[in-house]
Amino acid sequence: MIGVFGGTFDPIHYGHLRAALDVHQALALSELRFLPLNVAVHREQPRASAAQRRAMVEAAIAGEPGFRVDDRELMRAGRSYSVDTLTSLRDELGDKRPICLLVGGDAFNGFFDWHRPRDILELAHLVVMQRPGAPMQRDARLRAEVQRRRATRREELERSAAGRIWFESVTQLDISSTRIRRMLALGRSPRYLLPDAVIAIARDCGCYAAGTSPSWLDDSQAPRQQISGQS
Ligand code: ATP
Repeated sequence: MIGVFGGTFDPIHYGHLRAALDVHQALALSELRFLPLNVAVHREQPRASAAQRRAMVEAAIAGEPGFRVDDRELMRAGRSYSVDTLTSLRDELGDKRPICLLVGGDAFNGFFDWHRPRDILELAHLVVMQRPGAPMQRDARLRAEVQRRRATRREELERSAAGRIWFESVTQLDISSTRIRRMLALGRSPRYLLPDAVIAIARDCGCYAAGTSPSWLDDSQAPRQQISGQS
């Protein structure tokens, strides 16, 4: 079973990393791929460029066996959604291998507003990571879907390639990229919220400094200005 964790990772922090490791270990995944996204569909452009965010993810996961970066979303032009990402992964991995799409509890609450949610469930299992402070606001449709698809034993995920929903309570770390960006813009230290190697890259590129424009505007390695993202 492989895990897929998409995010803007602007920048990646211990909230992402610890949750990913919790899921990796709980489900004994053979690998977990971090997929930095160009732009999440329902949010503003990341501050750091694609190349900078990729470098930060690589630095953050260096030395952790079973973690890797998958940059297919950064390489792909045009608008893309989870369903497209998963279709592309299916082309690579075949129809049989279970794929677990990691989603935060907050994102999961709006799952039926995502692009082609039913097709997503044909392509992958959902692993919902409970995030601190995120209220559960499941509507009747989502509750019914959870009742029908919920898996409580790992074998249930292994038995099929897609279509089940798993809840994993992950280490509660109330850390967000937004807060880290603000701290860096104010000249405060975000130390102990994210790896030092990531802070070093963020400081070197100055991408979160106050008064800078988003670096994708002048980064030749991030040619796309079309909106794309995970939803
Ligand atoms: P931002 O503050 O810029 O919105 P973020 O910290 O939420 O960023 P994203 O890259 O948008 O980070 O998140 C990617 C995924 O990681 C989402 O599914 C999100 O719910 C999850 N996530 C983010 N922070 C945490 C955390 N502290 N604990 C568990 N999951 C998290």
